[in-house]
Amino acid sequence: MPKKGHIPERTCVACRRKFPKSELIRFTKEENEVVIDHRGSAPGRGAYLCKDCFPQLEKPKVQAKLKRALRIP
Ligand SMILES: [Zn+2]
Repeated sequence: MPKKGHIPERTCVACRRKFPKSELIRFTKEENEVVIDHRGSAPGRGAYLCKDCFPQLEKPKVQAKLKRALRIP
């Protein structure tokens, strides 16, 4: 089988499914708040949501998962 470029995969913190990084929305933390990483390359720990879960961003359950992934107390 020919090896054609490794696609980096990340796990959505809400549904735990894996996606190519390019299909996910990246989050990072800023002063202990969850913020969207618009550039996709902010330094430090990142957490990811898929496009299915993104609309649920404001749900407390999803917020809690993002915070845990980003080590926000
Ligand atoms: Zn998801």
